[in-house]
Amino acid sequence: MKELHYDVLVIGAGAGGLAAAAEVVKHDATCALIERESHLGGILIQCIHNGFGLEEFKEELTGPEFAERLAEEVRNSSVDIYTDTTVTQLETDNDDGLKVAYCFSAVYGVLRISARAVVLAMGCRERNRGNIRTPGTRPAGVYTAGLAQRLVNIEGYIPGKDVVLVGSGDIGLIMARRMTWVGAKVHAVIEIQPYPSGLTRNIVQCLNDFDIPLYLSHVVSRIEGRDRVEKVLVSPLKDGIPDEDNSFEIPCDTLLLSVGLVPENELSKEAGVEINPQTNGALVDSTMMTSVDGVFSCGNVLHVHDLADWVAEEARRTGRYAVQYLRNKRPKRQVRIKAGANVRYINPTMFDPDNPDKLYFRSLIVKNQAKLHLKLDHNPVKEVKMSHVQPSEMLHVNLKPKDVASWNIMKDSVLEVSVE
Ligand SMILES: Cc1cc2nc3c(=O)[nH]c(=O)nc-3n(C[C@H](O)[C@H](O)[C@H](O)COP(=O)(O)OP(=O)(O)OC[C@H]3O[C@@H](n4cnc5c(N)ncnc54)[C@H](O)[C@@H]3O)c2cc1C
Repeated sequence: MKELHYDVLVIGAGAGGLAAAAEVVKHDATCALIERESHLGGILIQCIHNGFGLEEFKEELTGPEFAERLAEEVRNSSVDIYTDTTVTQLETDNDDGLKVAYCFSAVYGVLRISARAVVLAMGCRERNRGNIRTPGTRPAGVYTAGLAQRLVNIEGYIPGKDVVLVGSGDIGLIMARRMTWVGAKVHAVIEIQPYPSGLTRNIVQCLNDFDIPLYLSHVVSRIEGRDRVEKVLVSPLKDGIPDEDNSFEIPCDTLLLSVGLVPENELSKEAGVEINPQTNGALVDSTMMTSVDGVFSCGNVLHVHDLADWVAEEARRTGRYAVQYLRNKRPKRQVRIKAGANVRYINPTMFDPDNPDKLYFRSLIVKNQAKLHLKLDHNPVKEVKMSHVQPSEMLHVNLKPKDVASWNIMKDSVLEVSVE
């Protein structure tokens, strides 16, 4: 077993890991970047559509172009990159407090890498048929939308010709358009919620522009087919239950599922990282540090982002915080942040009054002309007008030093964030 040591170890080389690693070495620390695939860029490599980069690079790029910009930055830096290498275990050495990762690689063999800090950037995986428990037979032709995207964009296969999509999340919407472009007929998108789960721009550009019907408050209540999917039964929801009387069939050979993503935190949990039940990602403080000292988290493994640009922004900050940790620069005080009315979660769950930063959150409601309210110990301290909020769009607010300067912060203060 080969033994290596770095200041910071970054696990995962998607947008998050690449941006975090680039930032670490910019601040004069040594860094290893570990990626289980043979390429850098993570999920971005299969997202060949445009819509990336407007924030990070101030120009519109495709996913692979966005990934390549970050990869080039890392390749031209002092980051040591290990592709085809999977981290299977992460622990803290009881003797010296160093983090230790065990990695397996067809290229490098078994590696034991110790580091003073670790950045978790392992991304997320898709929920599948088992997660939504759709009744029916178990024929071929049921895919997750991300897998179908990989088959079409990377492997060069078309998974089917007559397609129904379950879920109106961004991956599903993008795939509705993609399948149409490759010659398939997309008959419908079925969404259980009364509102779409994806970005508005994707509803317009991927469904409306191609006359693909979107059925809100509907479910696929049965999948039928012997060897291959033959049809699905679609039911409107009545009082939250599929309404059999008004159900209808759609003949199809393929069902694509875009029913959510789950942060890949198996490694984090084994390392003792406390998980936030609202996000399925780690609970992090104002410096993106998890409950395990010296272990940081960012990107989709922390909470599912809709834009790669936000992943890169959050990850760059996380890389800087990891280096500050190495130099014993820790916040002198941190204030707890609580999700209030109509807010599903807020990340991070603490802020540093001496170094306030960006907070990401998701609303539980759909509303035009909404208002974001920040209350410190029940007293209003900041209000922000928001033209539109909906659960599928990640929102953010910047806490500025001038905001916080006048706040009467006590030892046990709590900042509550709500949307009305
Ligand atoms: C289909 C799809 C369409 C999208 N469309 C858009 C869009 O139009 N515009 C936009 O801005 N954003 C879009 N996004 C979102 C954006 O691409 C992602 O949020 C972002 O790229 C996620 O980056 P990440 O680094 O957190 O995760 P990932 O890209 O998933 O990277 C995680 C990496 O970690 C590696 N890894 C995991 N576990 C280990 C381990 N144990 N050891 C070593 N390596 C490991 C994985 O192999 C992977 O490469 C889309 C996402 C998807 C899935």
